[in-house]
Amino acid sequence: MALFLPGRTRCAACREVIGHDDEVVMFPPGLFADRSVLARFNDASAHRACLTGDELWLEALEARDFFLRDPVAFIRSLEDR
Ligand SMILES: [Zn+2]
Repeated sequence: MALFLPGRTRCAACREVIGHDDEVVMFPPGLFADRSVLARFNDASAHRACLTGDELWLEALEARDFFLRDPVAFIRSLEDR
């Protein structure tokens, strides 16, 4: 999972520093293909508000949640594409 340092780590969505009181979402490495527009979230952190406020970034959050809930099913879903 991504390294997150409150007050130092930048949000992968808005590029602003994530503060101590901000709700943060961390992504594992290799979740998205390198050529994907979502690749910026690989091994990165983001404000939850940034993810839920944007349709494309929300897709990243949903993929992460799917992966964490059932990694095997997530990998299989990639093979089906
Ligand atoms: Zn942000």
